[in-house]
Amino acid sequence: MKYPFDKKVGILGGGQLGKMLCLEAARLDIKLHILDKDESFPAAKLCHKFIKGDFTDYDDVLNFGMEMDIITIEIERVNIEALKELERRGKTVIPEPAALEIIQDKGLQKDFYIDRNIPTGSYRHFESKEDIIEAAQNGTITTPFVQKACRDGYDGKGVQVIKSIDDLSKLMDTKSIIEDLVDIDKEIAVIVARNPAGEIKSFPAVEMEFHPTANLVEYLCCPANITEEIEQAAQKLAKEVILAFDLHGLLAIEMFLTKDRTLLVNEVAPRPHNSGHHTLDASYTSQFEQHLRSILDLPLGDTSNMQPSVMVNLLGEAGYEGPVYYEGLDQAMNVPGAHILMYGKSETRPHRKMGHATVLADNVDLARKNAAQLKQLLNIKSKI
Ligand code: ADP
Repeated sequence: MKYPFDKKVGILGGGQLGKMLCLEAARLDIKLHILDKDESFPAAKLCHKFIKGDFTDYDDVLNFGMEMDIITIEIERVNIEALKELERRGKTVIPEPAALEIIQDKGLQKDFYIDRNIPTGSYRHFESKEDIIEAAQNGTITTPFVQKACRDGYDGKGVQVIKSIDDLSKLMDTKSIIEDLVDIDKEIAVIVARNPAGEIKSFPAVEMEFHPTANLVEYLCCPANITEEIEQAAQKLAKEVILAFDLHGLLAIEMFLTKDRTLLVNEVAPRPHNSGHHTLDASYTSQFEQHLRSILDLPLGDTSNMQPSVMVNLLGEAGYEGPVYYEGLDQAMNVPGAHILMYGKSETRPHRKMGHATVLADNVDLARKNAAQLKQLLNIKSKI
């Protein structure tokens, strides 16, 4: 086989996902080029070449992409028109812009699931806050419900639960969907990869535990504490979803397991995802390597777990903002089975994702206990 790694791979976005792609690319001598605004961003220090620019700008994306053989992303909020033009000009763009355009908008994404008979929770479209208030007042929708901004939400931003009529003043005034509150037993995620040769492989499901106030994942347990039947159903659903979107590369599928044992697709991300960070230390192939393999049309790697694991997101402490200071990092490094990965962000903010740790153990319970200890020991603050 021709050594394929002389291909120029360009990534839109230089955050922590870009950094982890660079770490894994280096092992295979794949040269990653990163487009983002600032050289201080996590991936900039590790990539083959950093190009300064704005991934939401048409010209910046087009000019960057024209220098590449393959273009991919680590964030969804990119300029879609430029990606479509790059595809027209014969570049390999993964994820494919047609699917990315649907995924970028939570309303279009939900409509897609309904069109394709993919199970998802019920929802309605709204144009403005005023329309939602009117619907709540005339009984078309009833509290509690979940409001999701159609565009540009991430890490729980752009999503809020409206518990009662008194909460209506909190509504975001933007195009959104209103979802019924799902009676969730567990939140799980499956990451699946597909290469152009047609191979499809998925990672075992993970169980996500959410931060009590920040509305983002705090702990991730793998394997998930679900029956073999649910695991199989989740794997099957993940494969159906990637085929329905006709996507290549990675697709992370977040699902709700309801109290009556139904799986519903909540949302997807066509890129490496927080729900696969443990794979760097706990799987034979990491999600980042799998993404690179799939976009370069290489054989997909073994997705089995080497060991049970729990990943904990290391978030900036509430109440601190400014130059970062890692309090207790030395003690945290002594936690058995812990692999710590700091993203190298110079500034902390409340609940900002600053790093993560994956704790390996003989069983998930022990890994969870040690991960909680690590979280307690390591506090991300600012000195000022
Ligand atoms: P984000 O894009 O920020 O990840 P999500 O759609 O995943 O937004 O929502 C964030 C979290 O909010 C979910 O993981 C879940 O805990 C909760 N949530 C979202 N939608 C619903 C719903 N319809 N019913 C109950 N909880 C929900």
